Amino acid sequence: MPYPNERAGFFAVGDLERRQIIEAFGDQLEQGSNLPRDPLPAFEPFLQDDKPRPVVVALDGSSIYHRIPARLPATEAGLVSVSIVQINVDQLANLPQLPESGAIDPVQLRDTEDGSTLQLALPGRNARSVDGKVSRDWFRSSVQEVLETGHFGGETLAETLHALLRGTNNLRTIKCPNILCKSKPATPGPGQMRSRCEGCNSDIFLSDALRAQEIFSDEEPCGDAHGRIRHALEILCLMNLLRGLAKTEKGQAALGNIAFVLDGPLAAFGTIAVLQSGILRELRRIEKLLWPNHLLVMSAVKTGSFVQYFAELDEAPEPNSRIPLGTAFLPDDAYIRENIVPGATNQPWGKITYFGRPLIVKTHDGQRLFLNLVQPEADPPLTNASAPVVLNEAIAIAEHLGIGRNEFLPLRRAHAKAAIPLRIGKAIIESLARAK
Ligand SMILES: [Zn+2]
Repeated sequence: MPYPNERAGFFAVGDLERRQIIEAFGDQLEQGSNLPRDPLPAFEPFLQDDKPRPVVVALDGSSIYHRIPARLPATEAGLVSVSIVQINVDQLANLPQLPESGAIDPVQLRDTEDGSTLQLALPGRNARSVDGKVSRDWFRSSVQEVLETGHFGGETLAETLHALLRGTNNLRTIKCPNILCKSKPATPGPGQMRSRCEGCNSDIFLSDALRAQEIFSDEEPCGDAHGRIRHALEILCLMNLLRGLAKTEKGQAALGNIAFVLDGPLAAFGTIAVLQSGILRELRRIEKLLWPNHLLVMSAVKTGSFVQYFAELDEAPEPNSRIPLGTAFLPDDAYIRENIVPGATNQPWGKITYFGRPLIVKTHDGQRLFLNLVQPEADPPLTNASAPVVLNEAIAIAEHLGIGRNEFLPLRRAHAKAAIPLRIGKAIIESLARAK
């Protein structure tokens, strides 16, 4: 970083050259093959007239993390919001488009939706509560509280979390949240929300199983810990909805008519990867209940290796021109490992984190959408399974609801509901600084 009034000089560049550092590094660097890769993988044509499911339920989360001003040591807080929007696809298709731009009138668009939102404020570093909780414990108990109280008409999010953690071993051991304690307590078992550490008698919460507290520290901003909770809440909200609907025959019938659409990879990364096997198990259980109908859960991914790869593949001779319109491609494990995400081990791609498989769709009107799609009828690794039974239905959703720059209309609506505008969110957090 330059100091004020100091211009970046060329000394460092001269030194790099004199020492031949770049030249030596270039000699070491393996030169891959240049794009575009040849031949294009097997993009299969699909029909334009498949009808999408009549209802789309879009789910999206957002979080803002910011400093509370005029506090020392640096004190921070965050807001997390998850929104679920139900969209009537038939009504959406029948909306008149504005004559000039072809866009749909946003007021009429809102009439096709029905939604609900889960919101919470979370302490960040150095934010202590008036009842004496240090920031990390306050963070833990805030998460626990939203799990115990949050629901969409059925079981609570805590009960959903229990259902996902239940498995070969009912109890999960974690690092005791008391940093000074060396014990490895188990998280509360079925039916229990809280327990105590045998070593130090600290409270152990069910939410501690998500282990976001392990990346929470007063030494640095805790946006990652907040993001981890946001992601866990998105997954728990989805599974809560699915489990709630799967309980009744009427709900099961509804599930056969709904496409669930999420934002980002269908995966649980980092400490919340503990949820993945439970998610796969629950999806399989619910899929069986729906027979002969099927569960359709998909997501649209906007960034990352896959998105970049297919953008580059689509580049020649002009941007967005190489992948034929109206085609889709389901990469298998061998293709992914060879071309997109080379693995350090021989493990199949996404084995311990993903609960959906990648799918790339080029719609007839030229949107290139990168999707993830669940496949509960197949055993993992999903990337080695044959085509999912809901493949054509997922493509029909993409074909009808892809908009603008490779974006998904349902997600834009869910995001519009969940997202707190950055400037306003910061102002809200700054308003927490009240004079004593
Ligand atoms: Zn302990």
